[in-house]
Amino acid sequence: MSVFDGLIRVDEAGNIYYNQWIEWDHLMVPNKPELLRNIMRNILAFFGHCKSCTSLDGCYLLDDNRPKQPLHENCDCEKLEISFSQVSKKLLPNAQ
Ligand SMILES: [Zn+2]
Repeated sequence: MSVFDGLIRVDEAGNIYYNQWIEWDHLMVPNKPELLRNIMRNILAFFGHCKSCTSLDGCYLLDDNRPKQPLHENCDCEKLEISFSQVSKKLLPNAQ
């Protein structure tokens, strides 16, 4: 899958629309380094936070192809709008 896939869509009425990239964000879960991320996910799980939610933190998803929020009662997840250029820089750091 390319970062371009699904970026521009056509709805059932034939209207063209831009499909926004989002970054899934869960409270207090850092994206890096991996060790700190895992420690924080385990601490949050100890206090009852959902492992599915903390695993989604940092994922880039197309807005119309993401799980709908909230995933459950007291969900701490948010979606952060992220530009196509930010996604491509993070996924393809050597491409210019
Ligand atoms: Zn959540």
